[in-house]
Amino acid sequence: MKETPTAQVWIELSAEPGRPLICSACGRAVSQVHDCRLREIRDLPILEAQSHLPLFPRRVLCPHCGPKLEPLPWRDRYAHVTKPLAENVARRSELLPIRHVAQYYGVHWETVKQIHKQYLQRKLVGQLL
Ligand SMILES: [Zn+2]
Repeated sequence: MKETPTAQVWIELSAEPGRPLICSACGRAVSQVHDCRLREIRDLPILEAQSHLPLFPRRVLCPHCGPKLEPLPWRDRYAHVTKPLAENVARRSELLPIRHVAQYYGVHWETVKQIHKQYLQRKLVGQLL
């Protein structure tokens, strides 16, 4: 097993200009942003360095549903890791102890445990091959 990547890469993301606001609950186009709060999202390592994505996910003000997070295709709602990182963590957790996977990716043990648990639940209901 490789050592834990200790170098870090920070990539600041911002909303694509002109990207329409969409309510994640009903899927309707929305005209107002309710608020944005800084979140640090983790992604797959880049050249052995831990990657961090500081992001201001927008909560839209939907007239039908109230404040809702804007959907992002590469991140599950409220997740602190990207879908590709979660997928890699889940697959490595099939082969290695959770502690080793957490150490390799530099994420908390509880995060790995939660990701693996969700992966196994999806696998059990046949959502994964
Ligand atoms: Zn809505």
